[in-house]
Amino acid sequence: MSQADTQYAATGAALGKRLPSPGWRTRFAPAPTGYLHLGHLVNAIHVWGLARAYGGHVVLRIEDHDRTRCRPEYESALLEDLEWLGLTPDEGDIEAFRAGPTTFRQSDNGGAYQQALFRLESLGRVYPCICSRRDILAIVGPTAAGDEARYPGTCLRTPVTTDRTSARRVQLDADVITVVDLALGEQVQTPVDQCGDVLVRDRFGLWTYQFAVVVDDYDQQIDVVIRGADLLNSTGRQVLLGRMLGRIEPPLFLHHALVRHEDGRKLSKASHDTSLRELRAAGATAASLLGEAAWRVGLQPTARPVSADDLPTLFV
Ligand code: GLU
Repeated sequence: MSQADTQYAATGAALGKRLPSPGWRTRFAPAPTGYLHLGHLVNAIHVWGLARAYGGHVVLRIEDHDRTRCRPEYESALLEDLEWLGLTPDEGDIEAFRAGPTTFRQSDNGGAYQQALFRLESLGRVYPCICSRRDILAIVGPTAAGDEARYPGTCLRTPVTTDRTSARRVQLDADVITVVDLALGEQVQTPVDQCGDVLVRDRFGLWTYQFAVVVDDYDQQIDVVIRGADLLNSTGRQVLLGRMLGRIEPPLFLHHALVRHEDGRKLSKASHDTSLRELRAAGATAASLLGEAAWRVGLQPTARPVSADDLPTLFV
């Protein structure tokens, strides 16, 4: 679904009414593949604003599962940016990240993903896969921009031995998943048609986002997943993977609006005009950036500065 098609049934104050009773847990889970930008701020505003307004507990998780793209200097920068913004996690302490390994950093948490993989293997649902992206596209044909290629099941039909690759896929049930998104309303997804069997570990032995996030959301008892609408399509497969791992009650989901460039393009870490580092260097204050990010997605009518402590006012 493109952002233009997205119909927000609830924003701002209306979201609070849909949250669980106080004590619920959510997370801020950036990937340190670049500097934080205004898009991350929009996510942080929803996470901390709703948590502080409605009795939530914020976990900070560093999603550096992709070791080829993540860099320690980006992690240091994002920790420092969060402190500068005044956004303090309740768990996943900033000093603990600086001190060394912690299970809130995905690259330190491989044991948990391995255990989860054993569990799926014991169900007989895991198989090795030697298909490259190019092999898959050669079978399914080119996909439109933004669409994903559905894995056609090549290595399920013609099994390969485990010693040929580290890559593993999980055979999904053909279930239709219905999720009531707190902002978007009912969403119906059929993961087996969207993406086919999910890659959980790649040929370099790296755990994938789809797998690591499900294991962490389960282990860290996350009740409400708050994130941008660009991840909406991943929801069904994450619920399904969680169910296979034993999570009967999935988390609630809230997918919020994304900040866009004037021409509608999605922000990326290469978008220097919205990088926090550069905006800070140009003299922006924490409150001016939080206020601008909130305004850009319609959480307030003007770009009035908002301090971290005042974020709940955007949701009550
Ligand atoms: N690590 C992801 C990102 O930075 C967020 C994943 C999620 O919230 O599920 O985009």
